[in-house]
Amino acid sequence: MGSDFLDGANSAGLETLKREAAIAAFREHEQEGLCHMVWTFQTPFIAGICNCDIPCCLAMRLSVKHAIPIMFRAEYVAKLDLEKCTGCGKCLSACQFKAISQKKIQQPIQIDLLKCYGCGVCRSFCPQGVYSLKIG
Ligand code: SF4
Ligand code: SF4
Repeated sequence: MGSDFLDGANSAGLETLKREAAIAAFREHEQEGLCHMVWTFQTPFIAGICNCDIPCCLAMRLSVKHAIPIMFRAEYVAKLDLEKCTGCGKCLSACQFKAISQKKIQQPIQIDLLKCYGCGVCRSFCPQGVYSLKIG
């Protein structure tokens, strides 16, 4: 264990957000399609919570495109309430992990649970509230 963690995080020069403001910021990032990640450079100490996408994040690119496991899935996967799905296709661009597919517009959505990282970003893209998360 590094002794630099024992006195807590060094937050000098950083802006502090209240819980509600932090949650609102995360929701905004989800609507932009960004995926939340918790980074523990020295596990179990959390070094940061990142919001990113594959073009900008080397760890995501290595993990998803090159099967080098730098980041790991959440303990959740996406769950669908297909009775509410209109087949509009608005959620197709939400998933950076290519877990969401649709054979034809107006047809129900399909999730590949082996590809799903449980990021939850799809929830922000569906106007019908079809998506939720469940323990995977
Ligand atoms: S929760 Fe799964 S299906 Fe939804 S955007 Fe994330 S990886 Fe894709
Ligand atoms: S955005 Fe929602 S309603 Fe539209 S296709 Fe996706 S799951 Fe169905």
